[in-house]
Amino acid sequence: CGIVGYVGAQSALDVVVAGLKRLEYRGYDSAGVAVLADGGLAAAKKAGKLINLEKELKDRPLPTGSTGIGHTRWATHGGPTDTNAHPHLDNAGRVAVVHNGIIENFAALRAELEERGHELSSETDTEVVAHLLAEEFSSCADLAEAMRLVCRRLEGAFTLVATHADQPDVVVGARRNSPLVVGVGEGEAFLASDVAAFIAHTRSAVELGQDQVVELRRDRVTVTGFDGSPAEVRAYHVDWDASA
Ligand code: GLU
Repeated sequence: CGIVGYVGAQSALDVVVAGLKRLEYRGYDSAGVAVLADGGLAAAKKAGKLINLEKELKDRPLPTGSTGIGHTRWATHGGPTDTNAHPHLDNAGRVAVVHNGIIENFAALRAELEERGHELSSETDTEVVAHLLAEEFSSCADLAEAMRLVCRRLEGAFTLVATHADQPDVVVGARRNSPLVVGVGEGEAFLASDVAAFIAHTRSAVELGQDQVVELRRDRVTVTGFDGSPAEVRAYHVDWDASA
């Protein structure tokens, strides 16, 4: 339902949780975050309101890192449980993904993954994406390329945002029939389903086009089509009033 991604110099957890709060008006049934820190990936997720997640983060703090993603979920496949909440991770716990929308061919992809030995732990349509990204990343070592390859295999409507512990300081997003906006700051960049999540930090935004993948680094935003063709990145000024 709500998606936030961050790469920069601030605490990603603080930026992401604050961003998710700005998206609460959309409604949701669970929430979660993942941050890259100390060479690994740390995640927390909870059914219910953001306050439950914040309590969990207080009881079991995540290490501090400056790359992170977060999600508020509106369940379509699998009930609103802690396990079904996003982010979803691969079996090695190296890649994390959050998703808005529905992956219509997830059952076939899941069967295929299980045949190759992957163990899926949730009932969501989303989890297959984490496993597919891990497989593709293991051969290309580039998360944006892995995302392009995976997206070409997905059917349905989706916004996806992912991060990989073996490529720190990078967050990747993709969209088909579901919105995703990039916020471009000074030495930092944001991804969100809605500009409301990042206008406290920057008013410079880039709307991601249909069937495009974006790679976010602190100082660079790169957009391509699912086929790898380069796309133009044109920032616009958000003058929408946050208090409205
Ligand atoms: N289909 C996904 C799920 O049920 C994503 C739902 C959403 O858009 O929040 O987990």
